[in-house]
Formats: sequence, structure tokens, C-alpha cells
Amino acid sequence: MKAEKKCTTYLIAPAQRIATRSPLSPVKWKRNIRQYKGTILKKVFHCDSPRDWYVCDAAVLSCFDHRFDPGFRMFLQRIGVVNPDYIKVAGGANYLAAPGSDVDREFVLDQIRKSVRLHGTRRVILMAHSDCGAYGRLEGGFHGDAQAEAAHHQRELARAAATLTEAIPGLEVQAYFIDFDGVWDAEIDRLPVASGQ
Ligand SMILES: [Zn+2]
Repeated sequence: MKAEKKCTTYLIAPAQRIATRSPLSPVKWKRNIRQYKGTILKKVFHCDSPRDWYVCDAAVLSCFDHRFDPGFRMFLQRIGVVNPDYIKVAGGANYLAAPGSDVDREFVLDQIRKSVRLHGTRRVILMAHSDCGAYGRLEGGFHGDAQAEAAHHQRELARAAATLTEAIPGLEVQAYFIDFDGVWDAEIDRLPVASGQ
């Protein structure tokens, strides 16, 4: 606590002096302080981010379960998705397949529309995963039956894709299921979409 207080005093004081010395300048930059019209930001970490705008390779709708995040990111790179717009919500494609409410579904659709409008997105990747808490996990939701779980998610992904293409025509939609062994193509084009399953 003592060190933190000392740090704050050191950083804020120079910015206040800047404001006093140069009241006409709207923006003042210092190494660790950014000040604008009475607000002060304190830099706590340095990183370099690209300034160039980008075209999104794919909007990726997935669950936020972190266990599958590194593997799925590697897979995306393997298929050439290097500039994704991630949309992460609990259950992922569930928001489009069997949404808890119209508000949930519209929220996700709106995020995809914004990706299209802002970053020129033409492709959407839907992801579902094994042992998902939003589906009661593998044991609770499927009695430990991994095949039943995979089949269920395949139908969910197909239903989500149908909802998506109906709401936003013209998108290319791909769907994948990831488990503890790897990533599986859900092959939704070969699956008839049935409601209520
Ligand atoms: Zn999940």
C-alpha cells in the first residue's frame, strides 16, 4: 500500500504542473501520463498495437471457456484466419440455436452485423465445445456420452447457422466442434435443420 501511494503521488504531480504551466494546450503528453480537459490516464503497461485498419477474415462466435481458446486460435491460424473478430459469450452458438431470449439472439446478431459493417466481414465461424457449462457439461448434460454430446452440438451448430443466414444473408458460415482431442468440422451443410431438437 505504501509503494502504491508513493507511485500515485509521483505520477499525478507532474501532470498537475503541466496543466498549470500550459492551460491553452488541450492535450498534454508525458511518458506515463496523458491528460485532457481535467482527466488523467496513467500508463501501467507498454505494448505496440498496429494502427492500420483491417479487413476481418472471419467473425468467430464461440464460448468464453478458456480451456479451448489456445487450440482453437491455432486452428484458426491454420485455416488462414489471422484477423478475426471474436464474439465470446457463454455457450457460443447456443445464442443463435436456442437463445434464452430474443434479446440474447439480437445481441449476437448485432455484433456480427457490426463486424460486417466495420471490418468488411464476409465469413462467420461458429464454435461449440465439449464439456460446456452452458449445456450442463459432459457429465451433467450428456451422462458422460461424448458421442451424444457431439451429435447434439452438431445439430445446435446447424440450427445456429440457419438462424444466422436467415437474419444476415450472404455470409459464408462454417461450424466446428472442439473437444479434448482436437477440432471437428460439423459439416452443417450435410445436416438437415430440424427445430426443437
Ligand atoms: Zn462453454
